Amino acid sequence: MTTGSRPLRRLADVAVGELRHVSEKRAASLEQMGITTVFDLITTYPRRYVDRTRQVDLSDLNVGEEIAIFAEVKKVSSRRTQNGKAMVEATVSDGTDTIKIVFFNQVWRERQLPPGTQAMFFGKVTEYRGARQMTNPVVDVIVGASGVERDPSRVGRVVPIYPASGKAGFTSWEIGGFVEESLRRAGELSDPLEDSLRQRHDLVDRSIAFRGIHAPAELGDVPPARRRLVFDEFLRLQLLLALRRARVERDALGIQHHVSASDIDVPPGGLAAGESSLVRQFLANHRFALTGAQRRALTAIFTDLGSIHPMHRLLQGDVGSGKTVVALTAMLAVIDGGRQAALMAPTEVLAEQHVASLRSDLEGLTLADERVLGGRRPINVLLLSGKLKAPERRRALEAIARGDADIIVGTHALITDDVEYRSLGLVIIDEQHRFGVEQRAALREKGRGSSDERVDPDLLVMTATPIPRTAALMLFGDLDSTILDEMPQGRRPVHTSWARSEEDEAASWQKVRDEVAAGRRAFVVCPLVEGSEKIEAASAVAERDRLEAGELNGLRVGLLHGQMKDVEKEMAMERFRRGDLQVLVATTVIEVGVDVPEATVMVIEDAWRFGIAQLHQLRGRVGRSSLESFCFLFGEPTTPDGNARLEALVKSTDGFYLAEVDLELRGEGTILGSRQRGRSDLKLASLARDKDLLELARDVANELVATSPSLSDHPELIEELRLFVDEEEAAFLFKS
Ligand code: ADP
Ligand code: MG
Repeated sequence: MTTGSRPLRRLADVAVGELRHVSEKRAASLEQMGITTVFDLITTYPRRYVDRTRQVDLSDLNVGEEIAIFAEVKKVSSRRTQNGKAMVEATVSDGTDTIKIVFFNQVWRERQLPPGTQAMFFGKVTEYRGARQMTNPVVDVIVGASGVERDPSRVGRVVPIYPASGKAGFTSWEIGGFVEESLRRAGELSDPLEDSLRQRHDLVDRSIAFRGIHAPAELGDVPPARRRLVFDEFLRLQLLLALRRARVERDALGIQHHVSASDIDVPPGGLAAGESSLVRQFLANHRFALTGAQRRALTAIFTDLGSIHPMHRLLQGDVGSGKTVVALTAMLAVIDGGRQAALMAPTEVLAEQHVASLRSDLEGLTLADERVLGGRRPINVLLLSGKLKAPERRRALEAIARGDADIIVGTHALITDDVEYRSLGLVIIDEQHRFGVEQRAALREKGRGSSDERVDPDLLVMTATPIPRTAALMLFGDLDSTILDEMPQGRRPVHTSWARSEEDEAASWQKVRDEVAAGRRAFVVCPLVEGSEKIEAASAVAERDRLEAGELNGLRVGLLHGQMKDVEKEMAMERFRRGDLQVLVATTVIEVGVDVPEATVMVIEDAWRFGIAQLHQLRGRVGRSSLESFCFLFGEPTTPDGNARLEALVKSTDGFYLAEVDLELRGEGTILGSRQRGRSDLKLASLARDKDLLELARDVANELVATSPSLSDHPELIEELRLFVDEEEAAFLFKS
């Protein structure tokens, strides 16, 4: 660390209003862009750069070329053309020549480009009445025409282009000016990373990095600067995750469940009657044998359960990979020891479905309980539904508090509400996406609240939406991870085709009829309607009526949408499961978890409107048995991304592959979700592009935390991390 230099963290204490050129009014405008401090300013990065030494002279322009030119506005005027269009005409010059720039229906350009403005114009050179011109080019104002900002010394060889905000009224040039003043006044920044570490990983010094990204002398300065700054963004996030994990491991006392890993190896029918663990009894009587992947996952889980450290494990498995039985087996191991297990589902409907299938899977199994006559009783699966009436709810809470309920299923009400467990040993969260780090922490508190001991329950988080490894590192870096990388035997990939013509669609409906005639069932997913669940429901009703009268005439067609009452939904699902209904016309309410093995056809209308992950989930509702299954994607995309999504789905049924494609198409914002704290710190980094740096940051973070568990050797890093967590979290993470 250089003495006399300033920690980056300090810049977050300096308000932008303290800069010379930032008036109160401008400070307010900057705030609209999310910039309130000097730290925010210097972490506002250029979108791209213009190398002025590589600009073509206006005198050398050829008609027909697509090109970027840098020029100053000499004259600007507006008028109406003969056919009434508003036209703005600017004459620009670069000293070698002048050309005309013409804008149609963009009257505001006259105000944007007063004489004296210097700007980049991107567009195609055309010819009009013998003179060269550009029509409707893309414009980046680089130097505005007004006094203060015309500081020609700042127009260097390489001009950074900032994300100028039209709304807040700043040009790229002005923002660049603020950034420049910030950097100049900040002076030399200290570097929290030791020289040796930086050298080892080829990371430039922090001050050099900020200068290189904002004021590169040449374009070649940018990549190493970017490398360092991206690394820092990842490092901060990974440090927080590593600290959280170290903290939990050190503080938390877990439960040492009595489990036996060899129980997992019992095949169906492989057990003589008699005293035996619940897991053995269950597997011996189950209708299928576990896959290798399921056994590997359970081995890891059982090891965690048997250890004194609380488990924090992520179980990733593609749709249909069989996560449920893994969860159930783990729960049995835990309740066999007299403790309780909680299973948390994302919706009430799925919670109910879980209860129904758990009860049927557990039929006939009994649990040791010395409080009852004969010493054994059936396993009690309890649904803690938000819909329970007050007296029912009270009874349910009592059963949980007394320990009469062994497996408790519900939504996040299981943790948010005032539920007291007698002895919560394991919490399983199904379909994680909607549960963040904070909720996971709240869950741990539940175990601590139980009456007989102060311990953390074990935690298993299951996700059905595969996440690319990089995104998983960001979201779940504080969890151990297991992947179910093998489908149950006999499972066949769903034949997926894209019905692009009316003939294709007719053939798809014929397939529905054929399959139904063979005793199978089909889903039809209606187009996604933006805005209102009501309209979406109405369109589902209309589609059902249309199909019943048309393509699916004579079939028993049911309906499932978000506006139906829960009992109606359950009834529809039940009738479909039984085969009373042969076709279910549905909105995306069927997206997660619905399990009807006889369903073999999935028709998705206007498929391109859905995201990849959603399409993959929807398709996962079929192909859930050894029967051959089909998925038909309808519709003609209106966007290139729409095409790419459907092509990806036709090409592959591998959720991890699709997740990677999704990441590439959409960027990480959507995957990480807005809830994810720390996302705001990813200003420069891109998961798709910077995988290697993310892994490097993870390794360095683990290394730092391993040698200094509360980072006490790195006070400057701690100060920096404080910018990204609230006080409570900071107290938890940094106390030594
Ligand atoms: P998901 O991982 O999507 O939650 P499920 O647990 O619902 O998957 O399992 C999908 C289907 O596969 C279910 O019908 C389930 O009974 C069946 N299944 C799970 N594991 C196996 C297995 N080892 N062998 C055969 N079928 C299995
Ligand atoms: Mg599931």
